[in-house]
Amino acid sequence: MRYVSTRQQSPSVTGSQAIIYGIAPDGGLYVPESIPAVDVAFIRALCGMDYRHRAAAVLGLYLDEFSEEELDGITAASYAANFDSPAVAPLHILDDDTAVLELWHGPTCAFKDMALQIMPRLLTASLRKNGEERTVSILVATSGDTGKAALEGFRDVPGTRIMVFYPRDGVSQVQKLQMATQEGANVNVTAVDGNFDDAQTGVKRIFADRDFEKVLDGRGYFLSSANSINWGRLAPQIAYYFSAYCDWVNAGLVQMGESVDFCVPTGNFGDILAGWYAKRMGLPVGRLICASNENNVLADFIAEGVYDKNRPFHLTSSPSMDILVSSNLERLLFCLTGDGARVRGYMRALTSSGRYDVGEDLRRAVQAEFTGGWCSDRACREEIGRLWQEQGYLMDTHTAVASRVLDDLRAREGVRRPCVVLSTASPFKFGGAVLSALGVVTDETGPALVDELAALTGIGAPAPLAGLGKKQVRFTEWVAVADMEKAVSAFLS
Ligand SMILES: *Cc1c(COP(=O)(O)O)cnc(C)c1O
Repeated sequence: MRYVSTRQQSPSVTGSQAIIYGIAPDGGLYVPESIPAVDVAFIRALCGMDYRHRAAAVLGLYLDEFSEEELDGITAASYAANFDSPAVAPLHILDDDTAVLELWHGPTCAFKDMALQIMPRLLTASLRKNGEERTVSILVATSGDTGKAALEGFRDVPGTRIMVFYPRDGVSQVQKLQMATQEGANVNVTAVDGNFDDAQTGVKRIFADRDFEKVLDGRGYFLSSANSINWGRLAPQIAYYFSAYCDWVNAGLVQMGESVDFCVPTGNFGDILAGWYAKRMGLPVGRLICASNENNVLADFIAEGVYDKNRPFHLTSSPSMDILVSSNLERLLFCLTGDGARVRGYMRALTSSGRYDVGEDLRRAVQAEFTGGWCSDRACREEIGRLWQEQGYLMDTHTAVASRVLDDLRAREGVRRPCVVLSTASPFKFGGAVLSALGVVTDETGPALVDELAALTGIGAPAPLAGLGKKQVRFTEWVAVADMEKAVSAFLS
């Protein structure tokens, strides 16, 4: 299978090359030239498999340069004891028509692990396939969870280095501590004096700097991305939509072939886009509900067909969704139009004026498959409290945004269709906000919140978070946005 750029000004590449280079030379994102189709027999076969085999079967359809044994080996190593649930991504059934897909049983307690525990293995295998001898240097801008998950995924992987930038005041204390205490000889963590979009724009500028590329090449390095724009991040996420569907069928609550909705807490549009691929492949998905927090640029886009990032930026208690530029949306725009020139026009307009209007045809095409919704920070906290009181189920702030958006939609429409809510983080990762949602006023900060939440709810905290307070802090540096490239140069000297 070949991969093409969403801007159609770069040659097509293989899947392994798309994973190695991350972003196309024309600035576009790689998408598969065509989407593989599956039938009911394929889904039925998946229902009899464990997670790692489901993942290998789905990935094999996209990465045809990898043999079946190779992918089985990679998924077996990636989804193992590093996850604290044998199901890897267990489906928690809440009621007759609602299930929660828990994507946070990996080493960093957030859904990014689903992709980032496997992506470094896909990348190093891809490097071998292409005879690449330089050291790949992963550059990441993170709103919190990606950074830690990428660091964990790449730490001490031979032939790789990784540098993570995070917004100085845009991540939780626990997230900051998780990154600052990162182990590994090939890692660096640096704060940026700005918000997430500043950090992401800074990283994009470094990627676009051809002179800097030559300098690094001379030192034996080349840059790649582990951000959710990398196809190696997106492809593994497609698998858990299939897995959730199979688990619901296996539980006897959904008939094979019956369509179910998915409600996804969305930031960069990667998670939900994987669901769109699953749907296009033939998984019986009704609609994809795109849930935003107060940074509701996507909800407005789906309703109006106008993407407009000129609006106040809100720091919310679901910081991993505090995003005004959703990179992966570019893939959807290209896949729905097949028109790189049109996509280039939108991206140019986004850069110059922060806004683009896709017109009525494309707006309708988006609305045919996506429903947007958003909720306030206050509504998100109410939802955490309500679910804990009514169902004894504890969820984090990001998941609660999706859960609340789904509740509101069902109330407005007066019907309840079967829906899977994607749960993207452990509640212990955002302990302060979760405690306050449960009505607890606390002076504690950072890791002490983890213990306090465990004591209050009687739920055991995940091991990586329970031990965080005792780890040694290694990284305390911060830089101005303008100095990010200098910092990269120093790390790769
Ligand atoms: C990254 C993240 C999201 C948003 O996912 P996207 O793929 O960026 O849309 C939601 N919740 C949590 C906890 C995350 O870490």
